[in-house]
Amino acid sequence: MARDPKYDVLFEPVQVGPKTLRNRFWQVPHCNGAGSERPGMQAEFRAMKAEGGWSAVFTEACTITPDSDVMPLVGAKLWDDGDVRNLSLMTERIHDHGALAGVEMCAAGGMAANSESRAPGRVVSQIPHEFNYMANGRALDREEIRRLRREHVAGALRARAAGFDLLTLFVGLGAFPIYFLYPFYNKRTDEYGGSFENRIRFTREVLEDIREAIDDCGIGCRFVIDTLDEPYGYGEQGIRYDGEGVQFIAALDHLVDYWDLNIGTLNWGEDAGSSRFFAMNHEAQYTRIAKTVTTKPCVNVGRFTDPDVMVEAITSGQCDIIGAARPSIADPFLPSKIEEGRPDDIRECIACNVCVSRWEMGGPPIWCTQNPTSGEEYRRGWHPERFTTAANAQNDVLVVGAGPAGLECAMVLGKRGMRRVHVVDEQPEPGGHLNWLTRLPGLGTWSRVTQYRRTQIDNLKNVQFVPRTRLSASDVLDYGAEIVIVATGAEWARDGMNGAMHARIDGADASLSHVCTPEQIALESKAHGERVVVVDHDGYHMGATMAELLAGRGASVTLVTHFDSMGPYMRYTLEEQRQYQRLVELGVRIVTQTLVTAVTPAQASIVHVWSGEEGTVECDTVVLVTQRVSRSELYEELRADAGAVEEAGIAAVHLIGDAWQPGMVAQATFSGHRLAREIDTDDPATPLPFIRERRLLNATEQDYVLGSPALAHGLDVLAT
Ligand code: ADP
Ligand code: SF4
Repeated sequence: MARDPKYDVLFEPVQVGPKTLRNRFWQVPHCNGAGSERPGMQAEFRAMKAEGGWSAVFTEACTITPDSDVMPLVGAKLWDDGDVRNLSLMTERIHDHGALAGVEMCAAGGMAANSESRAPGRVVSQIPHEFNYMANGRALDREEIRRLRREHVAGALRARAAGFDLLTLFVGLGAFPIYFLYPFYNKRTDEYGGSFENRIRFTREVLEDIREAIDDCGIGCRFVIDTLDEPYGYGEQGIRYDGEGVQFIAALDHLVDYWDLNIGTLNWGEDAGSSRFFAMNHEAQYTRIAKTVTTKPCVNVGRFTDPDVMVEAITSGQCDIIGAARPSIADPFLPSKIEEGRPDDIRECIACNVCVSRWEMGGPPIWCTQNPTSGEEYRRGWHPERFTTAANAQNDVLVVGAGPAGLECAMVLGKRGMRRVHVVDEQPEPGGHLNWLTRLPGLGTWSRVTQYRRTQIDNLKNVQFVPRTRLSASDVLDYGAEIVIVATGAEWARDGMNGAMHARIDGADASLSHVCTPEQIALESKAHGERVVVVDHDGYHMGATMAELLAGRGASVTLVTHFDSMGPYMRYTLEEQRQYQRLVELGVRIVTQTLVTAVTPAQASIVHVWSGEEGTVECDTVVLVTQRVSRSELYEELRADAGAVEEAGIAAVHLIGDAWQPGMVAQATFSGHRLAREIDTDDPATPLPFIRERRLLNATEQDYVLGSPALAHGLDVLAT
């Protein structure tokens, strides 16, 4: 299909200094857990976006000096020529697909605790940093500033040697230029402190130095144009878009080829805003001012997934280039899909920030709720848009349960050419638990998980969704499929069983009128009283979501958790601060490090985890957010009767998603995808080994390919 002419503007080339972008799609810097230590993952992850049509593809923040070490967080590095060697694989693979490779250069200053390098820290003014424990350093003198400038040039030269076309100087989130720029950090009294001219001096000098050394790369800044109000930003101690933000651009415009703009501080949930709190293109109110003073192309971000919004951003004069991190993770082929006239195939980011959370946790490789192939391009060889025909494609498959796991599995099996795939659900609509979850406050955007898969399945002739059909074990045996996949999900425990006590909560029984599970509240509208206790042992968002929902309906809510903060995983998804504020505004009382040990129709008994102090909270209703329990009875029944399964001509019965392991939606989609990818292996239930990028003694390149002897685990020997 040809692209809709209304999107033509998105595919115009743009000149950035000596380099030409083939279109207006730019993957802005974002982390993925690969750094320079996993060069294969880094290269193939970024190359996928180049293949998918992005014209510029960047690294995450790439540190250029050993005293910028933010371990355990994993980022790209260009500290030495070894890093040049590793990152040059990324640039080579991006170039293979006709895109430009970009690097976001960063010397981290005060935020780096240098745990691995043990390097002596350097700062602009000697004050402990707000980000890391005991991160501090020596306030640079003039000679040391000159050395830091030289180190920036050396870093830029290494980047060029690695094959990068676009060299971005990071002016945000923990890089030296902002320590000079923001009064919050800069307390100097010499020519680098005080006036605006003095505070931008370092950035000006570094840009001049780099330009003098390099004339064949695009050189620009990723610039935070507004550091926002307190408590999310630095207030008057930072910079504001209509003050020093726009002045900075005007003052340094002649030294850059492009501006990549965003907002926020180290509390970067205001920039990578989750859909719970932010709409698409939410940064425009700050960033659009840049175009009033610059003659250079401007990149904007704001989780753009809708091509109409992108066109509006360009034609209204807001920006010249559509920047994206999360939309490019959820769908590396977003530009190609617009270009090929099939925007309905875009796998839109839901802005859940699970991708961010993996990095914030300190190292695990990226996960994406919408795109299970993200991070798996190299180590498992998965391509988000390409599927091989299964060796056992002549089989019919029955998938029981149309939640995220079942839908993903059915969709991929369809794309792998299975003869017939039926995905059957007792509910009238596909989506599983997302059908009620997405009706909760702030979670509507998550319905895109179902929407995308539904659209794909509707277009696959060999896949059919069968609604309103509850299947028993004997129904499954009679169905006529050769492969059965059970994706029957999970439900919240009705008895308060939880991992903190490894026991039930006394008196907790959701068949009673004063005890509820989240499903009962959302799905059955089970009545609750005026005074509600929400017990959270889950630690992600459900406890806070229930508290918000019920307090919003006027209940007086106490949230009790054994964790030391409300929904601690929300810290990793960058949602904690706003959610906390929202609950406090709704009058929710938050009680941490505390267990609920018993409930009655009149009260909850509590005990402090460490002091042992006991107490009670008077309440009419208790909501149990304690743990989810797999709904795997159907699978157990089928497993227990292997004879009947064989007699029915069923070659295999598999269990996936929450029915195997209750978890995040990202785990459910991954689980369904993984099984479908490997449905034709000897033992599809056991994941194939993946390439592990570790140092191997006496290694050859053959050790880093799928199926290499280094990945053998000997289980096949045990089986014989
Ligand atoms: P997951 O997150 O693993 O995809 P969900 O709980 O979201 O799991 O979805 C499971 C779906 O399976 C739900 O829609 C549920 O109604 C459906 N389901 C569970 N048991 C059966 C059954 N025996 N027959 C048909 N559908 C079922
Ligand atoms: Fe978007 Fe969530 Fe995927 Fe991140 S994990 S890219 S926020 S869908």
